[in-house]
Amino acid sequence: MARTVTARDGDDRRVADGVYRFGTRRINWYVLEADDGLTLVDAGLPAHWPQLEDWLVVHDYGFEDVAALALTHGDPDHVGFARRLADEGVPVYLHPDDRHHLRNPSDGAPGWFYRNLWRPAFLRYAAELVRDGITSIDPVAEFEPISDGDVLPVPGEPRVLFAPGHTPGSCALYVEDRDVLFCGDVLATRNIFTGRESGPQLLGAADEDHEAARASLDRLAGLGTVTLLPGHGNPMEGDVDAIIDRAR
Ligand SMILES: [Zn+2]
Repeated sequence: MARTVTARDGDDRRVADGVYRFGTRRINWYVLEADDGLTLVDAGLPAHWPQLEDWLVVHDYGFEDVAALALTHGDPDHVGFARRLADEGVPVYLHPDDRHHLRNPSDGAPGWFYRNLWRPAFLRYAAELVRDGITSIDPVAEFEPISDGDVLPVPGEPRVLFAPGHTPGSCALYVEDRDVLFCGDVLATRNIFTGRESGPQLLGAADEDHEAARASLDRLAGLGTVTLLPGHGNPMEGDVDAIIDRAR
């Protein structure tokens, strides 16, 4: 049975072996630590940047230790400070089918966003997005394209599992030797519309192509027991096939 993962070993950000969780309770991004440096997985919102600065200092790292930013997809709540890292010379990895998202973060919210603002929990989420800078994200023009099956040449060496649907270029990133699966918005464990931490689930109305997103769950099958690290909601540990079953 899948179970929720909370902080380990007294470090309130550590959620798996060499993996640290940042952001807020509504939006996650992660640091993946390896012997050869740090890989960031997603880049939250602009206002999250000081969390990274503070953490690097406390853990005796400098910005030169940040070797890469791997984006699970190009939605603005995942690319908030990507440009800042790019300007520091950090390579940004993204599936090219999300290049439009990365280059046009100020496109404006889609229709489903406005249609759901009557929901109190979603309104609080939207208010947080605005408060934390979603309307002032700088575009990133250049990126390193990734594709299905790639093992990224970055610390931790995550493998790309292309899983389109939430966005055309959505990917999960699997770190096999640590049983860690960064799933971006392929799966969430928090319902962004109700605010409930209600277990593994698809993003529903927030998916650009919901049927494709549902079909893409197959791409995660057979990985065995993992720590699932979603873009929204608490990390979870369990057999990935059981997690997929619950999401369906
Ligand atoms: Zn998201």
